[in-house]
Amino acid sequence: MKITKILEKSVSLNSNVSNSLINFSTHTVSLIALVTDQVRNGRPVIGLSFNSIGRYAQSGIIEKRMVPRLLAAKPDSLLQDNGQLSADKVLECAMQNEKPGGHGDRAHAASGLELAVWDLNAKLNDEPASVLFARHFGNKNYSPKVSVYAAGGYYYPGEQAGRLEKELSTYQNLGFNRFKMKIGGATLVEDVKRIERVLSVVGAGNKLAVDANGRLNLEQAIAYGRALQPYQLMWYEEAGDPLDFELNSLLAKEYKGALATGENLFSHQDVKNLALFGGARIDLDIFQMDPGLCYGVTEYVRMLVELESRGFDRKFCYPHSGQLMGLHAVAGLGLGGCEVYPGVFEPIGGLGDQTTIDDGVVTISGAAGFGFEEKSNLMAHFAALTE
Ligand SMILES: [Mg+2]
Repeated sequence: MKITKILEKSVSLNSNVSNSLINFSTHTVSLIALVTDQVRNGRPVIGLSFNSIGRYAQSGIIEKRMVPRLLAAKPDSLLQDNGQLSADKVLECAMQNEKPGGHGDRAHAASGLELAVWDLNAKLNDEPASVLFARHFGNKNYSPKVSVYAAGGYYYPGEQAGRLEKELSTYQNLGFNRFKMKIGGATLVEDVKRIERVLSVVGAGNKLAVDANGRLNLEQAIAYGRALQPYQLMWYEEAGDPLDFELNSLLAKEYKGALATGENLFSHQDVKNLALFGGARIDLDIFQMDPGLCYGVTEYVRMLVELESRGFDRKFCYPHSGQLMGLHAVAGLGLGGCEVYPGVFEPIGGLGDQTTIDDGVVTISGAAGFGFEEKSNLMAHFAALTE
């Protein structure tokens, strides 16, 4: 079996929303199609994927550096023993002649390529990618049911009174029972009022997480922590810069509730440093690394090994993602749960057209691969890429 073509296209996210630092109106994502010489029903089998949300398309790195390496490789050198492509070997080949460290945009580029291998192999096996992950990585307790929460509560331009409360009730009506909102984009006093408005809808602090997206310095992070403490929130996310492990560890000494971070760490070495120096507390704090940003599932599993070797439990891993690949990784690897962005970040964000949320739980369908074929607005872009 061999790869015959690798196609990439940048698509825009349809979202004019902001967190404390970023406006998403110009954000893009790389769609990837890995075309092979394998044929089913008269058509080539194609692995589909994208890099995850929030870090832009990576067209240049994919097209100029990684695709030429993969197409120049001897086809057999990319295979596993069963004759299918090896995600591990594809990743290693894509990363030829790249120095270690400095895990930034190329980690997202590589994620797209690596994840396409899993979609491809699951399609060749006619099984969901989550089932393939569970078998490949030895997860004996596989369940297609995934705990999800609705991530929203962004800052909107010209926001009207009552909009936030309405947004949260919409999520409740969709079947969500846990939620996340943004903080750090207003003053502490205003953010506390926003939190109280959300709590008036969701009812209890343990149903609500807040996310500062790395905006706060230590003094501000601690001030927010003191203000948040009485609400006993589900977690307090990315208070400070994601690589400022000292800030996280000092905050962990002050803030008694769960802290969450990790969505902007892209290598197992970074996660090792977080575990060693970030003050993370076993059976309390949450890890949010995203396989769609961190070189794919191969590297994500190395991150899990780093955490588990230090006593952390993968049930405390809730990947940043809000898309189908993240959902399959959570189920397949037996993680804690997954975020979903209802109505935001389309066409990349969101799950299948017919997917329902039942009391905060999504059941993965039997569709092969990541099930993109069940998400029509996304498939329209993949169809344009591959036709
Ligand atoms: Mg976040």
